[in-house]
Amino acid sequence: MTAAIQFGSRIIAFRLEYSDRKSLGITVTPKMEVLVKVPTDTTIEKVKEKIRKKAPWIIKQQSFFLSFQPKTPKRKYISGETHLYLGRLYRLQIIIAKEESVKLKGKFIEVTASEKSRAKDLLNDWYLQHARTKFHAIATPLIDKFMKYKVEPSSIVLRDMLTRWGSCTPKGKIILNPELIKAPKGCIEYVIIHELCHLIHHDHTQKFIDLQTKEMKDWEKWKMKLEKLLA
Ligand SMILES: [Zn+2]
Repeated sequence: MTAAIQFGSRIIAFRLEYSDRKSLGITVTPKMEVLVKVPTDTTIEKVKEKIRKKAPWIIKQQSFFLSFQPKTPKRKYISGETHLYLGRLYRLQIIIAKEESVKLKGKFIEVTASEKSRAKDLLNDWYLQHARTKFHAIATPLIDKFMKYKVEPSSIVLRDMLTRWGSCTPKGKIILNPELIKAPKGCIEYVIIHELCHLIHHDHTQKFIDLQTKEMKDWEKWKMKLEKLLA
């Protein structure tokens, strides 16, 4: 069964599973789901009380997975629609002409397409190209900063990920979600710094958090922005 508690301004939803274990166990999955396993004779009040007690820990666990729940509205790629780039909203303007291009003009993204149906592909290619160049430009000084710890990513690659902004392989490859190009620069820096910290600490322990805070004092602000922006 699923249930929820209110904790401050937050609602913590959880999935409850009864089993023949002796004590209550709480886990937070990378998808931010809270799973509670309890002995069969536990009352729901008891469970809720326990979750309320553990709420700060649960929130902390949830907040360290760089995940997001995409519920982006269906894009139609028509003139007048707004699209994000580096945290700013631009209005899409579609022009039909032979010579195709995508340009930022003031508050507009001007897409020149040979036919209307091409606008989506053209715009997404443009985003991907800009993600590549911007991410590298943003990452370079950050990678330099981490040299003092004698770590360096083996490479930085872009990959569409449905629920994550970034990840880091055990071999030190940093993977970034190209969708990040829609977020402000500070958010992109935050994700890169988070993954660079993983080159030193592979999980989200206090040591990891301390390092992340040392390298980016206001990371929480950017993390929240990131969640609000595209969620
Ligand atoms: Zn992480």
